[in-house]
Amino acid sequence: MNVPDPNRIQVDTDAQTLTVVWTDGHESIFPLAPLRAACPCAECQGDAVEHIAPPGPNDGTAEVEWTDLHIEPAGSVGIRITWDDGHNAGIFRWDRLRRLQPPASTHT
Ligand SMILES: [Zn+2]
Repeated sequence: MNVPDPNRIQVDTDAQTLTVVWTDGHESIFPLAPLRAACPCAECQGDAVEHIAPPGPNDGTAEVEWTDLHIEPAGSVGIRITWDDGHNAGIFRWDRLRRLQPPASTHT
């Protein structure tokens, strides 16, 4: 699968979301809690997570849990996220992030 490059990454700790804007215009909006649960490291085994839905209209009252995220590039393959709890063992690859929340409509 050909994955377009991410154009922009933005964390909003008020909304508890991480947004990835891809070069093809698609925006993936990940609620932070399930994204943390999808950490792909051996300890968390979040690789079992196949999809993360964008925040819905009822998620506006989501409890603010993650407030101090650090995001750094992991080579050219993805990003490493350091969470409030200090955990940063998982690398979120671009192809995986894209697969977790692909464009809603991929057919014409
Ligand atoms: Zn982990």
